[in-house]
Amino acid sequence: MKEISKIVSGFKENIFSQMTNLANKYNAVNLSQGYPDFDGAGFALLSAKVNIDKGFNQTTNAIGCEELRMSIKKYIKRKYNLNYDHNTEITVTCGATEAMYDVISALVNPEDEVIVFEPFFDIYVPAILMNHGKVKTVTLHGPQFSFDKEELRRAFSEKTKLVIVNTPHNPTGHVFTKNELQIICDLVKEYDAYLVTDEVYEFLTYDNHVHIPPATLDGMRERTIMISSSGKTFGLTGWRTGWAITVPALSNAIRLVHQNNTFSGAHPLQKAIGESFEKLDEYLPDYRGMYLRKRDILFNGLTKLGYRPLKPEGTYFIMCPIRHMTQQSDIEFAKDLIINKKVATIPPSAFYINSNEGHDYIRFCFAKKDETLYQALENLSSL
Ligand code: GLN
Repeated sequence: MKEISKIVSGFKENIFSQMTNLANKYNAVNLSQGYPDFDGAGFALLSAKVNIDKGFNQTTNAIGCEELRMSIKKYIKRKYNLNYDHNTEITVTCGATEAMYDVISALVNPEDEVIVFEPFFDIYVPAILMNHGKVKTVTLHGPQFSFDKEELRRAFSEKTKLVIVNTPHNPTGHVFTKNELQIICDLVKEYDAYLVTDEVYEFLTYDNHVHIPPATLDGMRERTIMISSSGKTFGLTGWRTGWAITVPALSNAIRLVHQNNTFSGAHPLQKAIGESFEKLDEYLPDYRGMYLRKRDILFNGLTKLGYRPLKPEGTYFIMCPIRHMTQQSDIEFAKDLIINKKVATIPPSAFYINSNEGHDYIRFCFAKKDETLYQALENLSSL
């Protein structure tokens, strides 16, 4: 038999599936994979049922149903004062994951360089490699998880095509500041590159940290592709509905990839999310309050147990240094936690290429019922 693709043969099962499988095998409380263990927004669920009953069950417009594109346009204007046209600049995809793949496929030629910050969300690098691009990483150094300006500059070259920025950032919980974004955007402009943003945690920021969409910075609208999704915002990660927003010429290229890939997403779910965005402003205070409470339950609980968790500025993840507790690598430590303490976390070294810093942390997810969090803390406190 002829061999499978050389690129694909270098991939392995992702760390989320590995840890969830281990959690199930050892019956551990699962604070590894980042999705809620409770249901999403009730109004969205109801709206999906109504739209199924109304018969919106056939393939919708490839670029996404009009109601959803209109709602996205409206919230982007209302929240960020950015104007985008829903017919030429907004494309709905099967989750932010597909959007990221489409954007990379639409823009990257063989040997083009793509800069990613590590730790990175695990799909970016395979997507770049599948498109024959070259990965350049810049490390976000703990405990602040910011980058060194000179290290970033050194990563740029005439071949830089794209820079990927995820803010609020998974797994570190860092919310990029205006100053950090300005440094990145100035280099993107200097090197005539594009910026791809992954903003799926856009409404999950805490304390006085504010999410700034990079497209709002001077001169960035025309060279930014802004990606987000409904999964985190409405607690419906299984609905796989995301979008890519950018100028018409780039949107057009992204649409050509999308139409030849998934073609379109689930019609009744798109309708439901479109309707749900009408309720966004009244929904957000409770949503953020709930996650703030969960963050504090886990953060305070871990602190009491002698862990030294880093308080996240956004997202639903907590990075927790382990070097003061063990000489083991993050992977060994996380496996031991599952087996001996019945708590599953993510070892983040899988999200780094250059730096070894990932070995010094584990990542907890707090998008879980309060009782799940309390159970995890109780398990961790046991001998
Ligand atoms: N984004 C989530 C996380 O970081 C889920 C990832 C996944 O399931 N592939 O845990």
